[in-house]
Amino acid sequence: MSIQTTPRRDGHKQAATARRLTSSTMPAQHVLDATVEFLDESRDVIEKIGRYYTVWYVRSSKFTTRYYVVIWNYDRCSYQCSCGAGCKEHSHIEQVSAFNHAKQMEQQSQEELSREAYVQMFRPCEWEEVA
Ligand SMILES: [Zn+2]
Repeated sequence: MSIQTTPRRDGHKQAATARRLTSSTMPAQHVLDATVEFLDESRDVIEKIGRYYTVWYVRSSKFTTRYYVVIWNYDRCSYQCSCGAGCKEHSHIEQVSAFNHAKQMEQQSQEELSREAYVQMFRPCEWEEVA
């Protein structure tokens, strides 16, 4: 006659526990909508240079295979992120900014090295002898 042996209150508790467990392992719908998935990716920032524009993918701090999408918004002259923050300063944009700064520094030092090599290559041999 009595099929339900568990009191109703316990049932509620179990449901709440299940919700908590699910929410910590499964991204919420708004996260799924705002991110793309990269499996087996170790980088925190991935740069994809297209013919017309560049896209940066920034790893979610909570879901390590999910990446937010950052682009350069030419109208607003700022980065724009696919998460709710948009163009506002926040961690995803800061990561892309730092990534590009590091890249620029690397390019500059390589240019200096190649300029130095160029000068060395075309320096007349007599210079050494005259000096
Ligand atoms: Zn963001």
